Amino acid sequence: MSTQEGSAADATPRSHSPDVVVVGAGTAGCYAAATIAHEGYDVVVVERKSEENAGHIACGDALKGADAFPDSIPKSQIEPAFTNTGVDHGRFEIPQEDTVLEIPIPGELAVIDRWDYGQRLIEGAIEAGVEIHYDTVVQTVRQNDDGRVTGVEATSQGEPVSYDAEFVVDAAGALSILQDEVDFSESTFDTNVNYTHFCSAYREIVHVEEPVEWHDALVFKPTDRAAGYLWYFPRTETEINAGLGFQMTEEPMTLVDDLKRDLRNRAEFQGAEVDNKLGAALPTRRPYDSAVHPGYVAVGDAAGHVNPTTGGGIAGAAYAGKYAAEAIVDGLESGEYGEAALWEYNERVMDHFGARYAALDVYNVLATAADVDELMGLLATLPGESLAEALYSGSTSIGPKLALECLVKSRGHWGTIWNLFQTKRRADELLEHYEHYPDHPDALAHWQSRRDALMEDVYETTGADPKY
Ligand SMILES: Cc1cc2nc3c(=O)[nH]c(=O)nc-3n(C[C@H](O)[C@H](O)[C@H](O)COP(=O)(O)OP(=O)(O)OC[C@H]3O[C@@H](n4cnc5c(N)ncnc54)[C@H](O)[C@@H]3O)c2cc1C
Repeated sequence: MSTQEGSAADATPRSHSPDVVVVGAGTAGCYAAATIAHEGYDVVVVERKSEENAGHIACGDALKGADAFPDSIPKSQIEPAFTNTGVDHGRFEIPQEDTVLEIPIPGELAVIDRWDYGQRLIEGAIEAGVEIHYDTVVQTVRQNDDGRVTGVEATSQGEPVSYDAEFVVDAAGALSILQDEVDFSESTFDTNVNYTHFCSAYREIVHVEEPVEWHDALVFKPTDRAAGYLWYFPRTETEINAGLGFQMTEEPMTLVDDLKRDLRNRAEFQGAEVDNKLGAALPTRRPYDSAVHPGYVAVGDAAGHVNPTTGGGIAGAAYAGKYAAEAIVDGLESGEYGEAALWEYNERVMDHFGARYAALDVYNVLATAADVDELMGLLATLPGESLAEALYSGSTSIGPKLALECLVKSRGHWGTIWNLFQTKRRADELLEHYEHYPDHPDALAHWQSRRDALMEDVYETTGADPKY
């Protein structure tokens, strides 16, 4: 890697020339960088936060599926940050119906100390050979006359610093500033993104005196308003991640006050102490149709790789980092940096989780139009095991058992059930279409036009305003 130090006298900016520059030392950036470094290439991760603060990210701290995370950072490296591995179900509180639903959650699930996890990830990347430049804020992107991205321009402690690289990985999280800077007019990179596709969320770390009864559960609760939700995730029996969020299509909530009000009304939080507060936006939308551009790949939150119904994005970010890195390594080896060379990354994302997330997004669309009290009323009538089966069976469709139980037990909600069944049918059609995601950028426009027609059906069925 070549590095040039500028001197104050000639005001020459510092410059670096790694093979790959990764912007953002979060989950996506660390897994991408570690995967590339393992192949012997020079990688610099540029992170705006300080060394001490890096990895400190607003999160609910629930980590799903860590047993199968990419091995470029071994699980043993992050495992000490898993503070509660005894969580095995979701507890859905539905105050409108005076009901609590307990639904098993299959697979490995942990609540983690997110800051410790973030720091351990960075350590894992460094052990793989990655260089981290802290306190360095990327301001813009370099692009050559052909439109290829060739590096980034940043500021570090008030001084300009530039990075020339074969590839830039945009792992800068939700609302990445890099995407405002790149001219994507010559590629299929997805620019159909706006603020209504995001959820605004806030969380506090709360310490209680007595162990909570639900220390083995992730607690969810709808807020009084549509498309808003609260969570209580136990890091330990007495340390709780308490938070809430709302889709930005809705009237803004006063997040801090709304959370305070709920905490005040719960007996288990009497005398509790808050020691950390953070808020951020997260994408609750379908994944980007394409997250590649010549010389440039977006990963994790920067490409909408979050489960839009749960807000869980750590797993998607880890895998997107790995898949992007493997496409980049192929590009470095073949000397190809164009969209077609990077396309396998889009395909692997869609194949692993993107198609499913796009289908789940249909329920977010429904939630913006449906009567939430009515939906909660219906949910409250259903048995937990059947719901779990429907949720985790791998498809988005309701099985015959649940369908029957719905009909028998849910008298008074038949209109809502019918709406839900029709919506599920639309989600299944969409899932099927995503299973035929194209294998080349030239075929994307055709695939998108059929997908957009399916989305029109979704809006018609749900009565929702178009989301995209
Ligand atoms: C309140 C909240 C609760 C959540 N709860 C959960 C949960 O319980 N479970 C779960 O799985 N997911 C959860 N998520 C989502 C999850 O946190 C994200 O999906 C995940 O962190 C995405 O990782 P990432 O690497 O893509 O981005 P990030 O973790 O956001 O990392 C981006 C990094 O880029 C850096 N950066 C940004 N801009 C620049 C710049 N210009 N220059 C240099 N560096 C820059 C940032 O400082 C940051 O370190 C939650 C999100 C929020 C907001």
